[in-house]
Amino acid sequence: MANEQYDGLLDRFLKYVKTETRSNPESTTIPSDPKETAFLNDLAAELTDLGLTNVHINKQSSYLMATIPSNVDYQVPKIGYISHVDTADFNAHNVNPQIVKNYDGHSDINLDPDGKYQLTVADFPSLKKYQGDTLITTDGSTLLGADDKSGVAEIVTMAAYLMAHPEIKHGEIEIGLGPDEEIGTGADHFDVADFGADIAYTVDAGPLGELEYETFNAAQAEIEIAGKDVHTAVAKGTMINAIQVAIDLHDSLPAHDRAERTAGREGFFHLYKFDGTVDHASMTYLIRDHDRQTFEERKHMLERVVDCLNTELGEKRVTMKLYDQYYNLKDALKDHMEVVALAKQAMEELGITPDIYPVRGGTDGSTISYMGLPTPNLFAGGENMHSRFEYVSLQTMEKAVDVLLKINELNLKQHK
Ligand SMILES: [Zn+2]
Repeated sequence: MANEQYDGLLDRFLKYVKTETRSNPESTTIPSDPKETAFLNDLAAELTDLGLTNVHINKQSSYLMATIPSNVDYQVPKIGYISHVDTADFNAHNVNPQIVKNYDGHSDINLDPDGKYQLTVADFPSLKKYQGDTLITTDGSTLLGADDKSGVAEIVTMAAYLMAHPEIKHGEIEIGLGPDEEIGTGADHFDVADFGADIAYTVDAGPLGELEYETFNAAQAEIEIAGKDVHTAVAKGTMINAIQVAIDLHDSLPAHDRAERTAGREGFFHLYKFDGTVDHASMTYLIRDHDRQTFEERKHMLERVVDCLNTELGEKRVTMKLYDQYYNLKDALKDHMEVVALAKQAMEELGITPDIYPVRGGTDGSTISYMGLPTPNLFAGGENMHSRFEYVSLQTMEKAVDVLLKINELNLKQHK
């Protein structure tokens, strides 16, 4: 009877990570890859077998949605749990998870039998936290996909436990498992009305205790520069070297405000794609800032730099497509901080110290929160995500299941 709430967690996780579901940034379909569709269908069958109701794939978003019906006769806010089924931009073919039982907390771990790839304590001191735990690692050739199949396994395991134990009382719980988080498009199509939750959590953060509700504001700028290519012998006064214009543009931005020179709540301009000849150059920038006003100022600064170059060149040779990608989750949650408080209390009652810091990135929850469904992000357990060094502790995944069950319990208590 003890620890029955974890039944099937490890088996589920191993099965899920072995199912290849890497998303495809080049694709325009939803989901971006048919492997995601196949996996979502598998999960739909599993949730149906467990007895969940309203199991369906939402047409607009391809999110698999399902309901654990309420088993109380009074109104309780409906809680949604969301995670993503796709894996990141790293080899995910033939994931072959390795299990390290009762890890000693100080040894290096060989991923492949020859030890070509190793999880070393020197490189990854996080290993020291896991003395006595069961760790699941890769075999060195792929990522693991704990991001976010640990979240999927935790949510499904919570659902299995509640469906098998009607004596545990709870309100209505919605489950949303979606595609294409890693290519930044999955949540764009999320259907809040169909999902039907009042509050929600993505289960997609990293190590034990992570509770994320502050993200970047994000924009992208795509810049095209039309040069004028003439022979260097007669270049004087005539040639416009598009590469040089690009360099001038880049040099006009604050030199400190780069991803590699900033941390915490410092924003930046990140030049992440550049291509150029004398005739033509293109640049792509990511603009990031936690503060909305500074974020807007950064965009204006880039616009002014472009205008200034065009004025100097005497004609419009620099064009820019500037668009917002997502906004700080915190601003969308500011009138719904009880959602964060509920998760915090759940962790604290379980003896888990909430680990809260400003995320230097976004979460699906920021997009979904701006659609009107407040959605902070809870830990799912993974370490070293998006790489062959990815690993997860089974005991942390169990604690994530505990947190979900505790949130349900506290939500019920607060509304009795
Ligand atoms: Zn993720």
